Amino acid sequence: MTPVLQASGLSKRYGAVVALRDASLSVRAGEFVTVLGPSGSGKSTLFRCIARLTEPDSGQVHVGDKPIHSLEGRELARARRDIGVVFQQFNLIRRRSALDNVLTGRLGATPFWRIATGLFRSDDVDRALDALDAVGLSAQVDQRADTLSGGQQQRVAIARALAQQSRVLLADEPVASLDPATAVSVLSLMRGICKANGLAVLCTLHQPDLAERFADRVLVMQNGVLRSN
Ligand code: ADP
Repeated sequence: MTPVLQASGLSKRYGAVVALRDASLSVRAGEFVTVLGPSGSGKSTLFRCIARLTEPDSGQVHVGDKPIHSLEGRELARARRDIGVVFQQFNLIRRRSALDNVLTGRLGATPFWRIATGLFRSDDVDRALDALDAVGLSAQVDQRADTLSGGQQQRVAIARALAQQSRVLLADEPVASLDPATAVSVLSLMRGICKANGLAVLCTLHQPDLAERFADRVLVMQNGVLRSN
């Protein structure tokens, strides 16, 4: 099967530090791939270069047939809708409800005035409610993000990515701020969603046991070099 996400030859240096050295990977639909590596090994740099939150010095990234590395402006924004992102620190709007936070996941598809006024389309709201249901938070839709537990906040972030209906989910240390039991439940949820929705998931982790337990395939990052396990 053709990979949904394909990166090749990604390199990034910060001054004298080579953060990423000629990294290549591919992830198929419904595949859960983890990138395992210690702190400072280059995982975030890889993640950020794939989503083009950081400009790589060289290399290519394709999602389907779209060349993420060479698009600009509106075309890049449109292509980015195919990439959902989940961060260690959840990145939620603290004072807004779980539902509002998920609705912002439709940003790329929603005109700015709707976001500013909160007048979302009913099909967007339905999709956001479905996403919150899928992560087990139906009872918390109106609860403010900063009153949710860490695990619940990460579930909202996953729901936000789900509502975006992306083909790829990039998760950068999504369970690093969570206790071990919650980490396991969040990774189980992500894996379930990956399989149910045919999402291509790339998830960075620093815990070998979790990487082995949840991944279809483990890649190892060391000193900016990515290799198969
Ligand atoms: P990880 O996510 O595995 O902890 P990072 O990708 O954050 O690793 O970092 C890889 C290397 O690149 C580290 O040596 C880090 O200090 C360096 N680095 C990352 N981001 C920057 C930056 N914005 N400026 C300078 N150095 C950076």
